[in-house]
Amino acid sequence: MPRARGWRGSVLVLLASLLGGIVAWGQGPPLVGLGSQLRPDSANNAAMAQVTATAIDDIEPSEHNILHRPIALSDDYAHWADRSYAYGSTQWGGRAVHLGVEFVNPRDTPVYAAKAGVVVFASDDAKTLLGPRQDYYGNVVVLAHEEYSLAGLQVFTLYGHLEEVEVVAGQAVEDLDRLGRIGSTGVAIGPHLHFEVRVDDPYDFRMTRNPELWLQHYVDRGMIIGALRDADGELVYGKRISARSDTLSREVASYGGDIVNPDPVWQENFTIGDLPAGDYELVVLSDSGSVAYAETVAVEAYRTTYVEIVVAET
Ligand SMILES: [Zn+2]
Repeated sequence: MPRARGWRGSVLVLLASLLGGIVAWGQGPPLVGLGSQLRPDSANNAAMAQVTATAIDDIEPSEHNILHRPIALSDDYAHWADRSYAYGSTQWGGRAVHLGVEFVNPRDTPVYAAKAGVVVFASDDAKTLLGPRQDYYGNVVVLAHEEYSLAGLQVFTLYGHLEEVEVVAGQAVEDLDRLGRIGSTGVAIGPHLHFEVRVDDPYDFRMTRNPELWLQHYVDRGMIIGALRDADGELVYGKRISARSDTLSREVASYGGDIVNPDPVWQENFTIGDLPAGDYELVVLSDSGSVAYAETVAVEAYRTTYVEIVVAET
């Protein structure tokens, strides 16, 4: 199944044939981590998988992974996105589709600007609609940045559930200027920072993008992202995908529905961020718990490995 993407004249075309032959042409980045054997689970012999795994390096660093983490890179704080309620997930059906990421830290942990910009909102949202309803994010700061998405849309960041905001609307901020302190105002279970990336319209919660695609890569770590599709090429939502190495196992869900916007270039429906460099067995489980797909994928530090997965049965 050929997949084609064009971006500013740089053509990336990758073709994976069903049984192991990989052909790449155009200006695509080097292929990495390609396994030649498909290993459908014995309990699900009808399952078939295609994989194209590639480390993305033809997208200029200035276009993605440009934001600082909004929590200080200190041992005292969790400055990575919480995995239990990742962007696009429903916490296995238990909650609404999550359109941001959580940085779970104690109340009053300082929160910093992910990028220089101008404060467009800094107050509680009791009278202003920023989410599915008013009084959703509690005390919240929204910044407008000078950066634009690959589709030419202005980038905004949102910092929700703050104990207190420490900036005012109209104020200019620099990279990592302090914006407020972590709290649990609005619809929040315990103190944490809810962080969003939005494009084009800072007041429209349907305009979010996956913050993991915009945050800088974590120290010495990389990321797996990709699209999980059925045999008809349709995106498959809410499926368990895990990445396992000798030292860690991380499970995510593919996005929970089409309210979750993929990146306009990558068209992903899952991301597994903050992975130490190395080889991972990428596994997709069917609803019955059998292995619908398993393949070895390489992660390189400070790079994103894109994987296209097609499973016949989910
Ligand atoms: Zn949240």
